[in-house]
Amino acid sequence: MNGWNFQNSYSSLPAHFYQRALPTPVRDPRMVFFNASLADALGFSPEPSSPAILASHFAGNSIFNGSEPIAQAYAGHQFAHFTMLGDGRAILLGEHLTPSGERFDVQLKGSGPTPYSRRGDGRAALGPMIRELIISEGMHALGIPTTRSLAVVSTGEPVYRDHSLQGAILTRIARSHIRVGTFQFAAATQRDDGLKKLADYTIDRHYPECISATTRYRDFLNAVIDRQAKLVSQWMMVGFIHGVMNTDNMSICGETIDYGPCAFMDQYHPDTVFSSIDHHGRYAYGNQPVIAQWNLARFSETLLPLLSEDRGAALTIAKEAIDRFPASFLGYWLQGMRSKLGLETENPGDLDLSNRLLSLMLKHEADYTYTFRTLSNGGSTDSPLFTDAEFIKWKQDWNQRLAEEGSTLESAQVRMLSLNPAVIPRNHLVEEALLAANESGNLSALEKLLEALKNPYAETEVNVRYREPPTRTDPDYRTFCGT
Ligand code: AMP
Ligand code: MG
Repeated sequence: MNGWNFQNSYSSLPAHFYQRALPTPVRDPRMVFFNASLADALGFSPEPSSPAILASHFAGNSIFNGSEPIAQAYAGHQFAHFTMLGDGRAILLGEHLTPSGERFDVQLKGSGPTPYSRRGDGRAALGPMIRELIISEGMHALGIPTTRSLAVVSTGEPVYRDHSLQGAILTRIARSHIRVGTFQFAAATQRDDGLKKLADYTIDRHYPECISATTRYRDFLNAVIDRQAKLVSQWMMVGFIHGVMNTDNMSICGETIDYGPCAFMDQYHPDTVFSSIDHHGRYAYGNQPVIAQWNLARFSETLLPLLSEDRGAALTIAKEAIDRFPASFLGYWLQGMRSKLGLETENPGDLDLSNRLLSLMLKHEADYTYTFRTLSNGGSTDSPLFTDAEFIKWKQDWNQRLAEEGSTLESAQVRMLSLNPAVIPRNHLVEEALLAANESGNLSALEKLLEALKNPYAETEVNVRYREPPTRTDPDYRTFCGT
C-alpha cells in the first residue's frame, strides 16, 4: 500500500545515528481511531482499501511502499541522570513530503523491540496511546506546536506492566524526532564528525534562516532557546504539565513531544504534579521554565566544539545564550498573560497585575481555565474568588488598565474569548474516555471528547459538560508513563 510520499533524509547522517529495524507483527490489529482530517491535511491518500488493510499497515504488520524503517539513537538526562537511549519502542517509517513540500516524520510507537530496547518489550498499552492521542490533538487545537496523532491501532496482544493491559500502536506525526538528547548522543559518541553533521542537518531542516550566517551555530542555539521559551510559555498559558521533561523528551524544532504522564491542571497551583514517578516535583507546573533552561544548558554544552575553536570563547557564547532564557521566557509569558486579559499594549504594571490575579486564584484554589474563561464571558462562578474584596479591587484595576489603553471591557472580552479556552482535555474527561475504551471497547466517549476538543473556544449546547470543571478535583490524581 502507498499513500505516503516517503523520503529518508535522516539516513544521510553517519550510520551510528540509527539502526535499521522492522516492526514486529501483531496478532490482531484493529483500528481504534483514525484521524481523517490530519490524513487529509498531510495529503496521505491511500488507494481505496479495507479498514483491515489500513489497520495492518498502521500496526506495522505490512510495510508501506517507500518506507525504510529505522530506530533512532539518542541519549538523555532522565530526572538529571545521563543515559544512552534510543527508540526502544518506536520505529520511524519515513519522512513524508506533503503536496506543499512540508516534511513530517511518520513514526510507529509501540511497534516492538529494537536494538535500543534495553530490557523493555518495545510495546505500548492502549490507555497511554489514547492519552497521547487526546492530549496532542487537544494541544494542536489550542494552537500549541505539537506532534500529532494519526492513528491508534489495538494489537490484540496483552502487554504486561504491573498487570496485563491491552497493547496498542500509535502513529505519530512530527516535524522531526531530533531531540536535545540526539545532540547529547552525538556529543557523547564523538564519531565521524557526527555532531557537526547533525547540527548542519538540523539547521537545514528546521532553522534554514541560520544557514548562511558565519555565526550559524550560535544563531542556531539562540533560535532553539527562543522556540523553547515560547513553547513553554504557551504550556503555562493553558495549564499544561508535560510531566517528564527529560532532555530526550525535548524536541529541537520546538514541538511538544513524548506525551507520557502529562495532564492539565484544574485548580491553579504552581506545585501541581500528576506524574506518579515525579516524587520531588522536578517537573511540576511552576518548575517547567527552569527545567527548560536546564535542558537548554545541556544542549548548549553539546554545541561547544562548534561555537568556537577556543573552549573559553565557546563557553562564553553558550553562557550568554542560556542566560538570556529567563528574560526571553518572561517576555513570552507576559505577552501571553496580556492577551489572556485582553490587553493590547504593554505597561510596566502588567506583571504585577497578572501576578496578583494568580495569587488570588491560588488563595481560593480557583480553577485555572474556568477563571480566565469566566473573565472572558462575563459570567460568574460560585468560587469564593469572585466575592473576595481583593479580587473585586483587582477587577477594578484591570478595567482601569483597559480603559487607559482605550479598550472597553466588551471589546477586550471579544478578544479574550478566542484566547482563553472553554474546553481543554481535563483529567476527568480523559479518564472517562480511557476507561470506556479500555474496559468495554466503547469508543464513543473518546470520539465525543476529541470532537469537543477541536473547538476549544466554542460555547455550544453540545459541549456544556466538556466546559465544566470537575465537581471536586481529586488531590490524589496520578498519571503514569505507561512504559
Ligand atoms: P519515555 O520515558 O517514554 O520517554 O522513554 C524513555 C526511553 O525508554 C526511550 O528511549 C524509550 O524508547 C524507552 N522505552 C520506554 N518504554 C519502552 C518499552 N516498553 N520498551 C522498550 N523501550 C522503552
Ligand atoms: Mg521519550
